[in-house]
Order: sequence, then structure tokens, then C-alpha cells
Amino acid sequence: MERLETDLLVLGAGVAGVYGALAAEAEGARILLLSKDPLPSGSTPWAQGGVAFPLDEADLEAHLLDTLRAGRGLVDPAVARSILEEAPRHLERLLALGLPFHPEPTREGGHSRPRVRHLGGDRSGLLLLRGLLARLRSPVLEGYMAASLLLSGGRVVGALVLSPGGPLWVRAGAVLLATGGFGRLYPVTTNPKGATGDGMALAWRAGGVLRDLEFVQFHPTALPDGALISEACRGEGAILLNAHGERFMPRYDPLGELAPRDVVARAVHRERERTGGVYLDLRPIPNLRERFPTVVASALALGLDPFREPLPVAPAAHYAMGGVRTDLRGFTGVPGLYAAGEVASTGFHGANRLASNSLLEGLVMGERAALAALGDLAFPKGAEPLPALSLDPGLLPALREAMGREAGVVRRGEGLKRALDLAEGLPLLERPPQEVAREEVEAGNLLLLARLLLRMALLRRESRGGHFREDFPGEGEEAYHLEARGQEVRPSPL
Ligand SMILES: Cc1cc2nc3c(=O)[nH]c(=O)nc-3n(C[C@H](O)[C@H](O)[C@H](O)COP(=O)(O)OP(=O)(O)OC[C@H]3O[C@@H](n4cnc5c(N)ncnc54)[C@H](O)[C@@H]3O)c2cc1C
Repeated sequence: MERLETDLLVLGAGVAGVYGALAAEAEGARILLLSKDPLPSGSTPWAQGGVAFPLDEADLEAHLLDTLRAGRGLVDPAVARSILEEAPRHLERLLALGLPFHPEPTREGGHSRPRVRHLGGDRSGLLLLRGLLARLRSPVLEGYMAASLLLSGGRVVGALVLSPGGPLWVRAGAVLLATGGFGRLYPVTTNPKGATGDGMALAWRAGGVLRDLEFVQFHPTALPDGALISEACRGEGAILLNAHGERFMPRYDPLGELAPRDVVARAVHRERERTGGVYLDLRPIPNLRERFPTVVASALALGLDPFREPLPVAPAAHYAMGGVRTDLRGFTGVPGLYAAGEVASTGFHGANRLASNSLLEGLVMGERAALAALGDLAFPKGAEPLPALSLDPGLLPALREAMGREAGVVRRGEGLKRALDLAEGLPLLERPPQEVAREEVEAGNLLLLARLLLRMALLRRESRGGHFREDFPGEGEEAYHLEARGQEVRPSPL
């Protein structure tokens, strides 16, 4: 089998992986990035709204409060402060690199003032990632997927990779997971097809801890095919209407259309059930075509005309708040293994991510994790690949359908149990990673995450009556994260 060797192996070439690699290569290290899909890959190029940066020192406190409020009592305040304090340095760096941020910040749901910086109208993630990739000197191997990690005496020393030319060993002094989220566990999602939670499954298999998987953010306004209509549209005047043509958001929250995402998603879900449909009217937005070219194109592609009529919308799985538990340096606790971006759980997002805080976290933690990994390179002798997880991909539609029905925006205990029974009944296999196909590994990874997510959701429900309670955590209640170690799922105090 072909072998490659590098100092730092970065799995993933979205914002966290590429920005981290840029910092690490400046230190003179050998960096190798893998992307299982052709560039620009991952969720990053699909991001429309932008990146949230505190406007100034006074706004840092307000940004922190907005983050805490959106996170429903589960944000780790010290983590959030640490990330927000570092944010201005990254904005300066990106501006110095020549990235074309619009000078005027915009406002998104849950933010008490406009502080989201966008690029190219609604092409924020694409322009950000293209700009970073253009400055990267390290190689990115496209179509290379990590199917399992290599271990030597408990330390992660590389990955076994499925490549267009066959399986391949990549030995590395340390590995940075930057593989994104797992939206593809759901039947309707805004995520790209590669969002199958690979990094979370890889970390779990190597002994890492997965945390808060049940906190999946549903974006309130996706078109019927899952194409996203950015929250920034509501920030700039778009309004939500039910099937009777009534504006309903002010009944649910004083912030109306700009309430935090979970509130809007639940309201959209309820109004769809109650009245038969929900529509987003984009016509109040001035310069709609110039400001939101992607949204306009997505609607026209479905035969919908946003200049003439409100567009049908529904909630779609959008962002994984949970993931691989890391500290503030991106360390997973497994020697040699670091994680940053959506794959990781730092405690920044709590139970519900504040809009546009994720690209920010990808920047700050991508750089920190890559630099911490560089300070921790080791090249022990010998290595064994862990077995890869595998599921017949033909069984995925039934799992997805159950997740959408029972573990979507609104969850009930009986439904969660039904979905868990189904997930536990599917045959999850361990196979030699050089013998599996990409689709089998992705399906296996999704099944593992479904089982753990459902167990966490049930445990949270049993102990407190459901995670999206509006008063969460209630007075006198203690907030805690749910962690999975080995087969055990248990609470861990903040
Ligand atoms: C439609 C949409 C709009 C969004 N809008 C915003 C926004 O406006 N602001 C904001 O802050 N956030 C937004 N988000 C969320 C944000 O885009 C993501 O959380 C963020 O981009 C994740 O970055 P990442 O680097 O962690 O992973 P990603 O950008 O998802 O990249 C993952 C990378 O890992 C690779 N990969 C995955 N598995 C493997 C494997 N096994 N082996 C090798 N490579 C692998 C992929 O090919 C890809 O290169 C949006 C998300 C979506 C889907």
C-alpha cells in the first residue's frame, strides 16, 4: 500500500482546516490537507450570512450576552469570552490578506445589533474559502477520504485513506480533524453531501469523547430542496407569513423574525402544522438581486419567483452544536488528535448556535488547534489502523426518515424511543478500512452518531423534559453537557 508522511495531517479543507493550515505552514512545518470532495468543499463555501465579529470592546460584552442567550444556558462563558476576545485579531488578519469583507456589518437573528460581516452579497463562505485557499501553499489532496485513524500505543499517528488510486497510509506527527458536521443524517438538510460526521466517528473510535450530539440546529427557512435562505434576509426586512397570509413571529417572540433560530424554527414548524404552510416574503428587501444573488438563483431554479410571490419554506437540519469535546487549544484528550470547526464541541455554542458564530469559531479554533498540534508532534514506530465502521448504504433512507420524523425540530419521548429501536436494529459492522467503500463508511458513521444522538436526547428528556424548553435551564436547575464515552452516555457538569 502506498505511504505518505507529513508533520501535520489536516482532515478537511473548510474554514477550520485551511485557516489552521495557513497558520501552521507559516511555522515552517510540512502540512498535508485531505478533502474527500472536490474543492471548494464542505459547508464553508455554502455559508451566506457571514462571520460575526464584535464591533469593539464594548460590543464584546453584548456579543457575549447574545451568545449566552442563544445557547440556552449551555454555553461555557469562559470559552465564549476567550473566542470572542480573539476575534478582532482575525478580522484584521483577513482584511490584511485582502479578503473583500463588506464595510457595513449586517444583523442576523439573536444579535442585538448589526455585527455580521459578509462578502460578495450572500457568497460569504465561498469568497472567504477561495481567498484562504489562494494563499495556501500546502497541498490539498482532493477525493481523499480518511476511513480510519492509525494508532500506535494509544497515540494517533495518521490515517488510513481511501483515494482515487486505492487505499493509502498517511503517517503524521499529529492529526487535526476539521471534517465538519453531520446534517446528512436528516432527510432535509442545508448541508452538502459530505456532511456525514466522519471526524466525530473517527475520534470516538480512537477513544475521544462526543458531547451534546442531540443539539442539532434546524434552520428555519430552507426551500423545499434544502437550499438555504439566509437569516440575513430577515435581518434586511423579509417577513414570515403562514398559509392564511398572517405575520406570526411577533406572537412567538418580541424580536419577531429576528428571534434566535430555535425559536423561529419551532414557530415555523408549528404554523406549518396549524395552517398548512409557511412562506417567506423577500419583497421588502431593497436591492434583493444584488444583495442575495444565491437566494434568488436557488428560488428561480425551483420555478419560484421571489420578486412576485412569497417563497414556501420549512426548517432543515443545519448545524451540529455538539461534536468531539476539545479544550481551548483544540486538544481532544487523545494523544496526537486535535479538532476544530463544526466537528468539535468547545462549549461556544451551547444548545443553540448564535448566527454566524460558527465561521468565527472555525477561524479562531482552526488556528489554535493547528498550532497546538505542531507543538505536540511525535513519530513513534509502528502503527495499526482501527477497523472502519460500515453500514449498507441502502439502509440509510429508513434511518433518515426516522430521524426527520422523530428527532427533528419537535421531539417526543415515544418517537425518540422508536427511532432508537430502529437505529439499534440496523447492522453496524467493523471492517478492515482498506476493504470498504466510501458510501459504506459514511453510512456507518451516520448510524453511530444517530444511536448516540438519540440516547443523549432521551436522557436529556428523561432528566429535564426536553432540551428546547424556552426557559432552559429552569430556575434552580443546573446546566450540564451530555457526553458519550465508550458505550456510556452521561451528564458532565459545566
Ligand atoms: C448552507 C449553509 C449556510 C451557512 N451559513 C453560515 C453563515 O453565514 N455563517 C456562519 O458562521 N456559519 C454558517 N454556516 C455554518 C458554517 O458554514 C459551518 O459550520 C462551517 O463552514 C464548518 O466549517 P468546517 O471547516 O468545520 O467544515 P466544512 O466547511 O464543512 O468542511 C469539511 C471538510 O472536511 C472534508 N471531509 C469530511 N470528511 C472527511 C474525511 N473523512 N476525509 C477527508 N476529508 C473529509 C470535506 O471534504 C471538507 O473539505 C452555514 C452552513 C450551511 C450548510
